[in-house]
Amino acid sequence: MDVKVARTKKSKLSNVDINNLGFGEVFSDHMLIIDYKNGRWQTPQIVPFGEISILPSSCMIHYGQVVFEGLKAFYNKQGGINIFRPQKYHERMNKSCRRLCIPEISYDLFITGLLELLKLDKDWVPRQRGYSLYIRPFIFATDSYIGVRVSETYRFMIIFSPVGAYYKEGLDPVRLITSGEYVRAVKGGLGTAKTPANYAASLLPANEAKKKGITQVLWLDAIEHKYIEEVGTMNICFVINNELITPPPDGTILEGITRDSVLRLARDWRIKVSERPISIDEVISSSRNGTLNEVFGTGTAAVISPVGEIQHLETGITVNGNKIGALSQKLYDAVTAIQYGEKPDTYGWIQTV
Ligand code: PMP
Repeated sequence: MDVKVARTKKSKLSNVDINNLGFGEVFSDHMLIIDYKNGRWQTPQIVPFGEISILPSSCMIHYGQVVFEGLKAFYNKQGGINIFRPQKYHERMNKSCRRLCIPEISYDLFITGLLELLKLDKDWVPRQRGYSLYIRPFIFATDSYIGVRVSETYRFMIIFSPVGAYYKEGLDPVRLITSGEYVRAVKGGLGTAKTPANYAASLLPANEAKKKGITQVLWLDAIEHKYIEEVGTMNICFVINNELITPPPDGTILEGITRDSVLRLARDWRIKVSERPISIDEVISSSRNGTLNEVFGTGTAAVISPVGEIQHLETGITVNGNKIGALSQKLYDAVTAIQYGEKPDTYGWIQTV
């Protein structure tokens, strides 16, 4: 496949402290662009990372016809680069595309563009354990019009960001709070798609939580405000009486790829896994009767994020003495060992380049 490449004249890498990174603040030297017009995706181009021009009448600014993804590449023990489950992220992006009336993109185009970009910017993959290259593919509508209709032209892009820990807490437990007022998604809405509207809706409640010193909102269902759904950028798992319980993917939550990986590992370890509705009351009562062992979030950015405290209305609970639990740690270790090539990838999750 033809990819047009225009290299940067001067790499920015020497200005970056690659061993001291936050999350999503620094971007690599190049970016991938594939435009969609006349009913098909055009020749991929790689150009220096920089501004893109958008008309003020571009429909995506006004009506939000946008999807995105977030996956990671790791510097492996053998000196190569491991991309974690690229097919699965591509599949989810196309699922989001279908919901947003955006044309799907073939895996061939997606992975060829990604690998070509990675070839140029491979030195941006941090070598330190715990660090990785965050890969952000996205598609946005580019028609110039004011009025609500499906765009006929689009742009697919990939940018890279070398990253450290997503939460300043790292593997220390985070604090969550339910919202009595706001909801994230309803069945039939956009909840299962990775589209900016979901994140826009989460900002106000997340800000209010932050003011109280709380890391993120624990979303409850939109109808009864009773069943747990997920967290801002993570799916959520509870270990009660040694059973791993997580809300089912039934039309409101994002189907996390880390969630899928973690459930697979847990099942293989003969842990009882249940994808079923779980109410906040059940969590509180299991905390009271001493059967709540662990709570953790799963997501690409943090992999596993232990939850140490949950606040719901007037009730606050502390989980596992505000320490990471044994299963959370074991899952974190197992997933990251595969990602960094320290353990064999028996699941076929890794594409090495
Ligand atoms: N839920 C939401 C709303 C998210 O943004 C994310 C992060 N993509 C997740 C769950 C976790 O999904 P994944 O494990 O695929 O990153």
